[in-house]
Amino acid sequence: MGMVSDDGLHEGWLAPVFQDGQRGYGVSGGGIPHDHIAVGPEVQGPDGTWRYPSRPAGEVTSWILVCHCSSSSGSTATWLGPEFVRVPSAALEDLQTRRIHAVDADVQDVFHREDVEAVVADLWRTEHLFTVGTLDDVAAAAAGVAAARARLDGAVAMARHGGASWADIGRATGMSRQSAQERWRTPPPGPRS
Ligand SMILES: [Zn+2]
Repeated sequence: MGMVSDDGLHEGWLAPVFQDGQRGYGVSGGGIPHDHIAVGPEVQGPDGTWRYPSRPAGEVTSWILVCHCSSSSGSTATWLGPEFVRVPSAALEDLQTRRIHAVDADVQDVFHREDVEAVVADLWRTEHLFTVGTLDDVAAAAAGVAAARARLDGAVAMARHGGASWADIGRATGMSRQSAQERWRTPPPGPRS
């Protein structure tokens, strides 16, 4: 129901927040009255029917930008972004300062208002997706460094095995003889079995 990132790993939306901090559950329809907000997964009532627990939309005082994040490794997390205050009249609305007016029937889907969605999508990209993307780059670069280090350790071990001196290793790696010896004197552990 929300915005999905290009890689499909992030789904963002604007969740209604009640005065006591409870957040909307993110489903609509399914027997929920149109001026109510679902607040949890379906529960079975005494008559056997399944219903979403809900609260009146009139109790919603703000919205918060939420992202359900997955990673390629399968882990999931919830990111919470900036909050938007619910103001009592259209005259008080100002999206740039995060004030939104919505009648009860529009609270759940206020996010689908084109002007609201534009502001929210922009925040989501700059405050969340961009950061996550750059952190992915950092992680990839760090993994590259670790792999290169392992390759270097292996190459040094091979060279030593082939008779290279610590001075030779130092020259090849741009280090002093002593530094090279200190770094590689203990042979790196072999591959774990
Ligand atoms: Zn995310």
